[in-house]
Amino acid sequence: MPDEIIYLDNAATTRTDPRVIEAMLPYFSDQYGNASSLHQLGLDNRVAVDRTQAKIADFLGCDKNEVYFTSGATESNNMAIFGVLRAFGQGDIDDKFHIITTQIEHDAILEPCRELEYSGQAEVTYLPVDKNGFINTKDLEQSIKHNTILVSVMYANNEIGAIQPIAEVGEILKEINSQRKQKIMFHTDATQALAYCNCQVQDLGIDLMSFSAHKIYGPKGIGAIFIKKGTPIKPLIFGGHQQNNLRPGTYNVPGIVGFGRAIEILDQEKDDDIKHLTKIRDYIIKQVKSKISGVSVNGSLNSRLANNISFIIRGVEGESLVLLLSDKSLAVSTGSACSSGSLEPSHVLLAIGVPPELAHGSLRVSLGRFNKKSDADKFINELPSIVEKLRKISPLK
Ligand code: PMP
Repeated sequence: MPDEIIYLDNAATTRTDPRVIEAMLPYFSDQYGNASSLHQLGLDNRVAVDRTQAKIADFLGCDKNEVYFTSGATESNNMAIFGVLRAFGQGDIDDKFHIITTQIEHDAILEPCRELEYSGQAEVTYLPVDKNGFINTKDLEQSIKHNTILVSVMYANNEIGAIQPIAEVGEILKEINSQRKQKIMFHTDATQALAYCNCQVQDLGIDLMSFSAHKIYGPKGIGAIFIKKGTPIKPLIFGGHQQNNLRPGTYNVPGIVGFGRAIEILDQEKDDDIKHLTKIRDYIIKQVKSKISGVSVNGSLNSRLANNISFIIRGVEGESLVLLLSDKSLAVSTGSACSSGSLEPSHVLLAIGVPPELAHGSLRVSLGRFNKKSDADKFINELPSIVEKLRKISPLK
């Protein structure tokens, strides 16, 4: 990355921490063995895999055997939804299966759910959220039916940073499950939350949790899923016997080692990162609001990710803002990087009640460990003249 780029798109991905790269390098060169081989190179790699599994387990407060590696959170989410559904046999429930999720999930949850609806395998309830992006747990309770098998509520939203009351949902489901023969499984997509929220699984009451290394300064293409012992789940892919046959395939050892180092650093630096980023976040919000008229922040500052700012800037197109800021070496986004090919306004902003014409003026600034106050100042200095320029030529008023 050229040094002059000011990277404010950490919700899309983070810069790989140099300490992570250093830990990975030997596994691309001397340590090239297959972690399933019985000779020394294989055994050394196996130890590296086990170490990461233990580090992640320690971070989550779970057993090492409850951590499975995947290619990222998209796969983990698919595994949770399709895997749990497949584990419930026909006849377990005398009806179509029912899943409850929210309207503001990432596409890696919404699309699997839609696929199940289209193929007639399940019915899905998408819980609404309030203007700050929070679900109402009463709505959740009222949505539960005799055929509900899975509840999947994201821990923190990737566009507006809203942190959901996961522990409360866990409590509610525990109570409901104590009176049910057919237990409801509870999954959370914690991809954006891992670096900022309490992810001790015992505190949350969850059965499955998805996450990804590249959002925590680790490499891309490696993720994991926590699956509580005893959770009904079937594999989605079949092959060798790795990972208890649940997720076969040769271990991505460089990725796994990088993930382990990233978790270790996160464990040590999480509290400092949160303090540091909350200060910069609040500074940017205050400065932008004071320098530019017609700006609002989506969602509440309570129960929000320390690194997330989501603005609506009236009278401009978010995409134009992103491009002109990019010309000034500032990397930001409109919303989710995964839907940036789409011209539709963000489903998350629509769900919190932002009118479609305003939703087009969204700008997401997502901070990360390597940002300094001077990065915020550069953004704050460049933004007003760009907004002014765009407003002059914009048909949106
Ligand atoms: N869930 C959320 C909330 C995300 O933000 C992302 C990444 N944008 C994903 C899932 C998908 O993660 P991955 O890129 O690791 O597949």
